[in-house]
Amino acid sequence: MSYLKKMSSRITFIADCMLGRLSRWLRICGFDTVYYRKIDDSDLLKKAGHEGRIILTRDKALFRECQKEGLQAVFILDNHFEEQLKQIFKQLHISSFDAFTQRCLDCNTLLQRVKKSEIIDKVPRYVFTYQEQFFICPRCKKIFWAGTHLKHMKKKLDTIFGDKNESSQC
Ligand SMILES: [Zn+2]
Repeated sequence: MSYLKKMSSRITFIADCMLGRLSRWLRICGFDTVYYRKIDDSDLLKKAGHEGRIILTRDKALFRECQKEGLQAVFILDNHFEEQLKQIFKQLHISSFDAFTQRCLDCNTLLQRVKKSEIIDKVPRYVFTYQEQFFICPRCKKIFWAGTHLKHMKKKLDTIFGDKNESSQC
């Protein structure tokens, strides 16, 4: 595991209600990212403080509150997740990450490898035929594999970050 990979797994986030899409993309990039559709600012701050998570917010008042409380936060400037990702990576000096099939995109739980034979009736037949590696979320039981959507995501990240990130190797 490279230094940068360790770095990325140590950084954890909590995102405000406006940043659902960004949260998914941070999970795609392998980052532990907590997101609730609804959460009180005070609860969000408490959780961030307890768990040492960096707060991501588009809410100026909340950002000021973070500063007052001495909590690390990023005030997200742009509406689009591409720009949002860029901003976070730039501001936190993240230049690489270990992406994909690490975290459940829906619930943020670390995925586990699962044997092909165990998911035979749980994925579409063409997926079963053409894919070899499968992962399961131990919490919500969703199954992930390195399909075309993954290629699409990698391409997207490559266009956002150039080919610097290590994801292009996996
Ligand atoms: Zn899950």
